[in-house]
Amino acid sequence: MTTTSQPVASPTSAARSFLARAGKLLIDGRFVDAAGGQTFASVDPGNGEVLAQVAEAREHDVDLAVAAARRALDGPWGRMSPSERGRLVHRIGDLISEHAEELAELESLDNGKPYTAALGVEVPLSADMFWYMAGAATRLNGASVAPSVPYMPGQEFHAYTVREPVGVVGQIIPWNVPLLMVAWKLAPALATGNTVVLKPAEQTPLTALRVGELLHEAGLPDGVVNIVPGFGEAAGAHLAAHEGVDKIAFTGSTEVGKSIVRAASGNLKRVSLELGGKSPNIVLADADVDAAIAGASLGIFYNQGEVCSAGSRLYVHESQFDRVVEGIAQHARSIKVGYGMDPESEMGPVVSREQHDRVGHYLGLGREAGGGATIAGGHLMDRAGYFVEPTVISAPHADHPVVREEIFGPVLAALPFSDLDDLARQANDTVYGLAAGVWTSDLSAAHKLARRLKAGTVHVNTYHVFAAELPFGGYKQSGWGREKGDEVLQQYLETKSVVVAL
Ligand code: NAD
Repeated sequence: MTTTSQPVASPTSAARSFLARAGKLLIDGRFVDAAGGQTFASVDPGNGEVLAQVAEAREHDVDLAVAAARRALDGPWGRMSPSERGRLVHRIGDLISEHAEELAELESLDNGKPYTAALGVEVPLSADMFWYMAGAATRLNGASVAPSVPYMPGQEFHAYTVREPVGVVGQIIPWNVPLLMVAWKLAPALATGNTVVLKPAEQTPLTALRVGELLHEAGLPDGVVNIVPGFGEAAGAHLAAHEGVDKIAFTGSTEVGKSIVRAASGNLKRVSLELGGKSPNIVLADADVDAAIAGASLGIFYNQGEVCSAGSRLYVHESQFDRVVEGIAQHARSIKVGYGMDPESEMGPVVSREQHDRVGHYLGLGREAGGGATIAGGHLMDRAGYFVEPTVISAPHADHPVVREEIFGPVLAALPFSDLDDLARQANDTVYGLAAGVWTSDLSAAHKLARRLKAGTVHVNTYHVFAAELPFGGYKQSGWGREKGDEVLQQYLETKSVVVAL
């Protein structure tokens, strides 16, 4: 690992000017202060400095946002033709793409991630999500149905189904890929005609608020999307429990996901959940070793390891174990860790002091583990900002916390295997089931293993493919439902059967 120096690139005038006006809630088409006037600081994790003071939504602000979303549902938005709605959603994608540099800067400053990753990967994926979903708006067709009703002999029917928006949707998102999470949530909700109250993570509210401005520029009617930055226990919990909300879509930790389910039970609102993961990345004996090393490195180190589907458990056939693990360790040592806005940086800081402490705790457990070894990294970095050494740990045993628990940082736990059945059992021996990777030159073996893995996405000879067309979500405690693809549309629609006696 090498480190890069402090910022070479300072924010451009567009990003600076947004930072100067960033601190408001978006409610009913207007940027407003919190009713109680309270604010919180959004901090640059690369140096600990305050980027902006942001209005902090609490219960009353959430109530206002939900009421605005309800009015908007009953207003012009509800009467807009699907084609018009689709074009509007497409225009949002255009505007994200047109403001790519500014959004990438804000994302890098707020989250810490390299500007190059935000610009090269996450902004294009976000725009693409809106473009893809725009096409769905005109394809929300029901079906014609021919009912047979045994207790009404001779009666003929004309019956059909229609798809309608669920209504007012609350959306709560995390801090790891904030702009992409906005896109994954808003694009399908809008394409299907819902209205939204979106709560960004308190660590990273900035790009969501900038998108709020772009929504207005695109011509979205007032109140269709309301954005209420604030803390989970106040704004988030209130939104999840709100009687005026018809559905809650949550992305975040499994622990909070469970509290969302409890909160949503009051009015039995619909719930979809994208939660944590501890995904196995598996290297079979016949894998292309160089490709596996590169792919497994990407799988764990992309975005400082702060990816729910990160390949954080590595299983390598014993015949290749030393070679693969040393290859990844060499890669880890070569990663340029530095300030996100430095174009040389390949890895930024983790998002917050809390996350830094959390990752540090697991690094300590890894260093102290008897029988295992830290092969690369293993320490928090001694510099301003929340930097962590990219770390590879040869795990002491399968039950060690670095193997079982989600660390959500750049920490890989590696284990050898010899028997394929035992490997499949170990890979599935987790409460999570978000993703997996298989590296092999035997495609039959890959497909067979893909069938056995209890994971929402199985990558074969690749990792971290996040295309808008692909459903994404988890088995087991990694969540309920799927984001993206056509599948996500089901989460935002009700089906109504209409039966006519002829
Ligand atoms: P978190 O669960 O602490 O917070 C996520 C969001 O929930 C934030 O907006 C937070 O303010 C809010 N929140 C917190 N407590 C709440 C409560 N009681 N009621 C309502 N809202 C509440 O998670 P995090 O630390 O921000 O993010 C990391 C987690 O997110 C990891 O577990 C990661 O795997 C998961 N994640 C999952 C996906 C996915 O698609 N499956 C994607 C990204 C992150």
